[in-house]
Amino acid sequence: MTKLDQIRAAEERLLLPTYERNPILFVRGEGVHLIDEQGDRYLDLLSGIGVNALGYAHPAIETAIARQSRALIHTSNLFFHEGQAELALRLTERTGLDRVFFANTGTEAWEGALKLARAHAGLLRSEGKNIGTKFLALEQSFHGRTFGSVSTTYKAKYREPFGPVVPGVEFVRFNDVADLQAKFSNEVCAILVESIQGEGGIRPLSQEFFAEARALASSTGALLVVDEIQAGMGRTGKWCAYQHYGIQPDVTTLAKPLAGGIPLGAILCTEEAARAIHAGMHGTTFGGGPLACAVAIAVIDAIEKENLLKNATEVGDYFQAQLRTLASRHDAIKGVRGKGLMLAAELDSADLAKLTVAEMLKRHIVINCTSDTVLRFLPPFILKSEHVDYAMAALDEIFTEHASHASTTQSTGGHARG
Ligand code: PLP
Repeated sequence: MTKLDQIRAAEERLLLPTYERNPILFVRGEGVHLIDEQGDRYLDLLSGIGVNALGYAHPAIETAIARQSRALIHTSNLFFHEGQAELALRLTERTGLDRVFFANTGTEAWEGALKLARAHAGLLRSEGKNIGTKFLALEQSFHGRTFGSVSTTYKAKYREPFGPVVPGVEFVRFNDVADLQAKFSNEVCAILVESIQGEGGIRPLSQEFFAEARALASSTGALLVVDEIQAGMGRTGKWCAYQHYGIQPDVTTLAKPLAGGIPLGAILCTEEAARAIHAGMHGTTFGGGPLACAVAIAVIDAIEKENLLKNATEVGDYFQAQLRTLASRHDAIKGVRGKGLMLAAELDSADLAKLTVAEMLKRHIVINCTSDTVLRFLPPFILKSEHVDYAMAALDEIFTEHASHASTTQSTGGHARG
């Protein structure tokens, strides 16, 4: 039995069966590469689902972890430490928001943002305003796995097994301005969006829809809450994807790449929204601990020192252009979308998408598939154009060999697996 087989057998016995893992045991990483137990190198175009912004074994992260772990890993939020205000300053300066709450994960940040929106509406009501408690979320949205998050997440498979979920959520058709206008009223305490939907298939909001959401929320005092957990922290070439639109939210959430692989989430909000919160209303044991904050500060500084926003824009534009060239050669690619290093290629069948991910893995390239038919690319921000070329050659080969085969097997109900 190999070490991987042993681990797999133990997990099958001991863990809740929530994941269908790929049969690979990664043991370390270097730059944009992961390395398995046999020493084989894989080009990582997924970065731990959009987390490892600086890739693997980046010296800035190693140094921050080593230094901070020698000094202080955890104190709880009962005491001050050196990191939270310093990190909050960096984040507020870069996002245009005023105040920060640190959580541990994306879903925890999102839960807090929902609570903040409800509390803010409660404050407005206490001041005599007519405003309700309803949330407007978007079709195809994804906000995480805890109760508030699944309640505002569109796909039924994430909500229904756990029902009843949190009430008071209505879904608006994606980028449908008329539907948004029809569903918005004084009953709404917040409009919830991702600037670019991630799990939903890398779908950017239209300028018109985003602007209307901003205008409607402002008209009643409801909050515009923007989930930047996947798109934020530089992935699209700006600190937050809403900055491409020139639209300022009342609340945003960050997580995934925030501390380069150490769990950390954040809610950022305006002074107006922050009026709703007082001591004791919300909290966390671990959130914003000294270790995570020190690493997040090092990540932000490295992104700036190494010009990684510019790199995400330039290599992302190149990546997108290459995907479009590939689409012109292969009819199986129905569309190419995204911004910076948050990219997708929509294929004509779910079977082909699955097969492509498996074939890429055989060629030692990590990508994934979301929304059944969408190949998703969320590489580290340090990606270079030669890595793009390498991945494109592999995709070209796979589509040349398999595209018509997979489309045929799907249309006859078969399952093509690489
Ligand atoms: N929001 C968005 C947009 C996400 O992409 C995710 C995770 O994929 C989450 C929230 C949940 O984050 P986490 O898995 O850290 O709880």
